[in-house]
Amino acid sequence: MGRSANDSGVAFDIDEETQLILRSLDEFVEQEVEPIAAELGETLTNPRLGHEPDGRLTDEVLGAIGRVRKRSAEAGYYAMNMPSDVGGEDVSAVTWYRANKRLATSAVPLSNEVLAGPAGPKPLLAAAEGDQIENYLEPAMRAEKTTAFAQTEPGVGSDSPNMDTNAEKDGDEWVLDGTKQWITNAPYADFVQVFARTTPQAEAGRHGGITCFIVEDDEFELGSLNNAVGSVGRQAEVRLDDVRVPADRVLGDVDAAFYDAMGFLGLGRLEIGAQAIGSAEWLLDRATEFATDREAFDRSIGDFQAISHKIARGRANVYAADAAGLRCAWTLDGGDPAIAESSILKWFATNTFWEVADDVVQVHGSSGLAEENPFMDRLHQARIFRVVEGTDEIQLNTIASQYGL
Ligand SMILES: Cc1cc2nc3c(=O)[nH]c(=O)nc-3n(C[C@H](O)[C@H](O)[C@H](O)COP(=O)(O)OP(=O)(O)OC[C@H]3O[C@@H](n4cnc5c(N)ncnc54)[C@H](O)[C@@H]3O)c2cc1C
Repeated sequence: MGRSANDSGVAFDIDEETQLILRSLDEFVEQEVEPIAAELGETLTNPRLGHEPDGRLTDEVLGAIGRVRKRSAEAGYYAMNMPSDVGGEDVSAVTWYRANKRLATSAVPLSNEVLAGPAGPKPLLAAAEGDQIENYLEPAMRAEKTTAFAQTEPGVGSDSPNMDTNAEKDGDEWVLDGTKQWITNAPYADFVQVFARTTPQAEAGRHGGITCFIVEDDEFELGSLNNAVGSVGRQAEVRLDDVRVPADRVLGDVDAAFYDAMGFLGLGRLEIGAQAIGSAEWLLDRATEFATDREAFDRSIGDFQAISHKIARGRANVYAADAAGLRCAWTLDGGDPAIAESSILKWFATNTFWEVADDVVQVHGSSGLAEENPFMDRLHQARIFRVVEGTDEIQLNTIASQYGL
């Protein structure tokens, strides 16, 4: 565990800077995101629209997403958690947590594009050096270029150090061979950060011997889309068949990428936790309104304990998850990788989101299932959250090992 509960610590009040950021994010969504989303209308909310027949997002949708990201970057929000020396605002993990959570409480389509997700700059990219800064990091910070993070393969997901993708040095070049799959933003990325084994496990150890390479979009072959229920057109295979990249495409140090990535696991889990909690809160607000208005057997359905307890249980879990989120963010701000805290948050918040989404669909009856309502979309998102960035089981393994098992 990181800083102990006995240290003076986690503050639940929102400091002035964060309050200002949250207020201006609300305004940004209203003034900048809403008009862009309104232009596309139902295209963004009906899952059957906005896609090519194979699932790929249409150019119209991609254009709208790109505009939101660029405006957010210009306004200083997009990658505000990145260090100021690379063009970020250096906001604390607590502020980043609150901002992610706040945007997840918005029903405006594309609000989830305001802060940099897997397509945007993450701390790993801050290791860029020399020409990499101008060619990849800076355009990613301005949202002029997008990226992807490629670790998962057909044969390995959770057990990613056992990856098959490898890279061999040949003069001034590296030759990459392998296939990645389920890579978010791969269909649209200008460059992908590809993880490959460069020294065998027998020599380098399980987590050593893995290097991250920057591979440009015209250097790899895009394979099939990996469409998930709830996330269509976003993920795809990245095929690397003897792809040659110059030596200066190594991001960070040779053989050290897995350690670098592990250092940032906590941040990814914090972001997903925040989004899960924000979404669950939004769903509970909708369920409360509906349970008050909807009548059955001559009374509001909220008068039935079977309904009110669903909402109450959700509120209690969200309350506890939010406290775990702040504790995790505060631990990260103290320079600790927050291994236990981020796994506890990720597991608890995403399971809470899943249970809340399921209950809120139930509270709404058949209108909960209706395609034009957003409840099933959020339920699908919750299900995805329990798999990505480390599955439920991997989080529980981490928690067990952090507590001595
Ligand atoms: C929408 C979406 C977006 C994604 N985006 C990306 C991305 O951008 N980049 C990327 O690299 N990957 C991405 N992924 C892949 C994702 O990270 C993996 O799917 C995830 O890590 C699980 O790997 P797997 O699917 O191979 O399952 P496996 O690792 O094969 O696991 C299968 C089952 O076995 C369980 N299991 C495995 N090992 C253990 C263990 N030690 N103890 C207990 N249970 C265990 C798992 O929890 C799971 O239930 C994405 C996936 C989805 C669905």
